[in-house]
Amino acid sequence: MINQGDCPKCGKRLFHVRIESVLGQNNDSDDIRCLSYSCIHCNVVLNIQLDPRAKPRRRTAAAGVERVT
Ligand SMILES: [Zn+2]
Repeated sequence: MINQGDCPKCGKRLFHVRIESVLGQNNDSDDIRCLSYSCIHCNVVLNIQLDPRAKPRRRTAAAGVERVT
């Protein structure tokens, strides 16, 4: 795989990306912290991933709630 590192929108070389903290919405569960990577030239979003620094405490707490049957 050849990685030329060009922005798919503006075509400039990606020597830097802007990283922003965003929230991912997961239907009825709590928002999940994510990171977005965007081009510093044209601001197009290149990728979004789960924030590896986010602690899964909310998900664990939600899983611990027993459903009424
Ligand atoms: Zn760009």
